Amino acid sequence: MASPPSSRPEDRAQDRAGAILTVDLAALSENWRLLKRRVEPACDMGAVVKADAYGLGLEPVAKALSAAGCLTFYVAHLDEGLALRGIVDGRQDLRIIVLHGPNPGTEPDFAAHRLIPVLSTPRQIKAWRAFAARSDLLMESLVQVDTGMNRLGLTEREFAELMADPDGLSGLTPLALMSHLACAETPDHRLNLQQRERFASMLATFRLKYADAKGSLVNSSGIFLGRGFHFDLARPGAALYGVNPTPTAANPMIPVVRLQAKVLQVRRVDAAAPVGYGATFLAPDGAKLATVSMGYADGLLRSWGAAGHAFIDDFKVAVAGRISMDLTTFDVSNVPDSALGPGATINIIGSRQSIDELANQAGTIGYELLAAIGRRYHRRYLPAPASQISRS
Ligand SMILES: *Cc1c(COP(=O)(O)O)cnc(C)c1O
Repeated sequence: MASPPSSRPEDRAQDRAGAILTVDLAALSENWRLLKRRVEPACDMGAVVKADAYGLGLEPVAKALSAAGCLTFYVAHLDEGLALRGIVDGRQDLRIIVLHGPNPGTEPDFAAHRLIPVLSTPRQIKAWRAFAARSDLLMESLVQVDTGMNRLGLTEREFAELMADPDGLSGLTPLALMSHLACAETPDHRLNLQQRERFASMLATFRLKYADAKGSLVNSSGIFLGRGFHFDLARPGAALYGVNPTPTAANPMIPVVRLQAKVLQVRRVDAAAPVGYGATFLAPDGAKLATVSMGYADGLLRSWGAAGHAFIDDFKVAVAGRISMDLTTFDVSNVPDSALGPGATINIIGSRQSIDELANQAGTIGYELLAAIGRRYHRRYLPAPASQISRS
């Protein structure tokens, strides 16, 4: 049976869980500094912490990043902004920018909690302007323009109309003009330069009216397209969390996430036998199987089952059969029994396998795997050493 239970509450929680997610906050802080050095000194940088900081936990991630010197945070939804404002309560110097802007009628929530909206439609701009006029507040905002992705932001025509309207942004303080790159992780894609040129031209027009407005274009991958893309305020997310922002080259970032699943049961099949739902995998005579308490409810995509593998120490072990909601079985025939004793774990993400490799096996990207991370893991946060906590 398992090693004797320990008495520290933290260890007990780890004993109870079926799998352990380790988030290395020192590595996160180091990634922050690494990206910051690439954009300095001309360009400032914030951090994108939407979707619970890409699944890793908004509170510990935001606290570690602010300790590392981050002053601007981006979330997608108003509720995420409210949660973050609560977490960093007392740090009035921290800017929280809400990428999706206000839904109709929610403008007062932004003002009450000092959340800065990104305004992406004429309707959002109009509503925000009307609210600002009524409340007589200095209302910071960002304006988003579309430069080729056709997802969110004013079209070129809407932008031209806004610029031609003398009341277009009256009473508002636009901090920045913002746009988003569609193909930043593909450096040779011609849309990159097109979007940069459109953005530069719109920003020049914008500054005729709002001379102090900053330009914000790049996400993680955009930072690696070079200084010509940086403008004034970068918005990395995924790279901070260790996802490779340059998929066509080696990963310049430090891994932040480790994922280990505990082995629940090891069995040997005497004669060839099917494994899992649908009996899609036939374990050969004498095969050894290990089942872990982790499944698609924990974010292991079913599509990973087809070609997925993981590691026990240095032994590569393939997924055997379909991934269930709570359980996954591996073929561990190549692993000596000595490595499968009590306390054995299978490393899903770790030194032998990156999040990008895991995503590749599942036919997806690291972003989706992070966003899918489940709620049932025991989470360990490795702190940034005090000596690494910088200046601010
Ligand atoms: C999510 C998001 C980002 C961060 O993108 P990464 O690729 O994770 O760095 C930046 N800007 C906008 C508008 C986003 O939606």
